[in-house]
Amino acid sequence: MGSTHRALGFVAGAAFGSATVTAAGRLSPDADQYRGWRLADRVTPDELLGRGRPMQHRGITHWWAWPAAASAVLVLGDVPERGGWVWLLLCSLVAGWWSHLLGDLVFGRADGFSGRGPGVPVLPWWAHLGVGLRCGGLLERVTGVALVPLGVWVVAASAGVVAGPTVVAGWSA
Ligand SMILES: [Zn+2]
Repeated sequence: MGSTHRALGFVAGAAFGSATVTAAGRLSPDADQYRGWRLADRVTPDELLGRGRPMQHRGITHWWAWPAAASAVLVLGDVPERGGWVWLLLCSLVAGWWSHLLGDLVFGRADGFSGRGPGVPVLPWWAHLGVGLRCGGLLERVTGVALVPLGVWVVAASAGVVAGPTVVAGWSA
């Protein structure tokens, strides 16, 4: 059974690799930067809701409560086959969403034009909080490169190839 657990751990690590689907791009919180969302923002008078615009970049799509609710359902909810493939895939998608918010919490300056603060909204689309480091700066690039070996290590640790925390394999043990 130990080898099965290791195999499952590897799969789990690989599944978390798929978190990149929701970590960046159209299916991530940055969906608010793509054409369909921008067009909807232009034709929706969301300024009327006050406290900035909910559909602005780093607005409602970047609220932590969405992945928190999804995480709560996955961990505490009455979901079928917890630990199964579908559940692992859903976990990876939620993990990707969280990872995006974490990145934006650190990198992303305030927008003086709209009055939006740095980071991500604490409340649905206002009261932003963040470190406010520059996006696209040297520190962000260095961080991105440094994360590559960390990701490899997490997958290798999940597979039991190297020592380290087993992100999901530990759960399945
Ligand atoms: Zn973002």
